Amino acid sequence: MKWEENVRRVVPYIPGEQPKERNIIKLNTNENPYPPSPEAQRVLRELTEDGRWPDLRLYPDTDAAPLVRALAEKYDRRPEEIYVGVGSDDVLAMCFLTFFCSRRPVLFPDITYSFYDVWAELYGIPYEQIPLDENFCLRKEDYFRENGGIIFPNPNAPTGVELPVSAIEEIAAANPGSVVIIDEAYVDFGAESALPLIDRYDNLMVVQTFSKSRAMAGMRIGYAMANERLIRCLRDVRRSFNSYTMNLPSILCGAAAVRDDDYFRSICGCISETRERFEEELSGLGFRFCRSRSNFVFARHPDFRGEELYRALRERGILIRWWNKERISDYLRITIGTSRDMREVARALRDIVEHPEAC
Ligand SMILES: *Cc1c(COP(=O)(O)O)cnc(C)c1O
Repeated sequence: MKWEENVRRVVPYIPGEQPKERNIIKLNTNENPYPPSPEAQRVLRELTEDGRWPDLRLYPDTDAAPLVRALAEKYDRRPEEIYVGVGSDDVLAMCFLTFFCSRRPVLFPDITYSFYDVWAELYGIPYEQIPLDENFCLRKEDYFRENGGIIFPNPNAPTGVELPVSAIEEIAAANPGSVVIIDEAYVDFGAESALPLIDRYDNLMVVQTFSKSRAMAGMRIGYAMANERLIRCLRDVRRSFNSYTMNLPSILCGAAAVRDDDYFRSICGCISETRERFEEELSGLGFRFCRSRSNFVFARHPDFRGEELYRALRERGILIRWWNKERISDYLRITIGTSRDMREVARALRDIVEHPEAC
């Protein structure tokens, strides 16, 4: 067609499937198995029941001030050091647009969140995917070279492997000329945050989300923390793009959820414990995996193809994530659900491993 040469064509990111069936054990998109904070639920109820609906007539605060204030208190930062967006995907996409403006390549691992190369392609940003080592660890030395920016998750996804904060510090220190973004989507499940480093490295930004540890993927809330100047750049770009990204219910429920720190800690604690118990079960069944610091495990079995296991679990009503991709096609990424979910998964895996002929 004639118009095609003037149109931007992209290969989109493919998110994990959201099945329609209700009775499936859904462990494919790293959602939290627990409900959101009761405080967030109360705020949502008040918003709908107590006649505050008219507030929805008005545009929300452009900077989502109530949410930013709650985050500033929680993390002991100034509001100027915090930026919020519609899930961390929105925050990260805005970071690519704002900070990766060089002709030099942006660096990220070969096995990582598969949205990074999609955004780089979308914005026409040059990039280089750097192989993780054979144990799926990121080698900090690979990032001591010329680049137009650096981004990776910590713990990494889909491997669950944590990079020590000391290595992140070395990467930030070695790259004063580029912005280094740490995507901490899974940090609350037992890893150490790089947040304290933002006082010492003016090129470092930490991005987090409500989707996993705060059980609010459906509300779409993400945030970035960095020094005031980086945050201001991000805000200026966003305001040139869409002035009102955050909706009022998200702003208010998000603020209530952040203030309910006890609930947050208790559900994160449950998931970490369940993960540890599930890892023991997996070891007993002969699975191999790296130590996870996230709400999922990334495991393979020496006697089975990844696809076989994925399909066999699916037949038993258990949905996990599997990628037909180089280096990881024999791995399964299994989200940690409730302890009951994980007992079911362990039982199913035992059945599959012990009766391979039925596979
Ligand atoms: C889930 C995830 C995100 C995106 O989360 P949002 O729901 O958009 O906040 C970003 N990065 C990584 C590594 C993730 O796993």
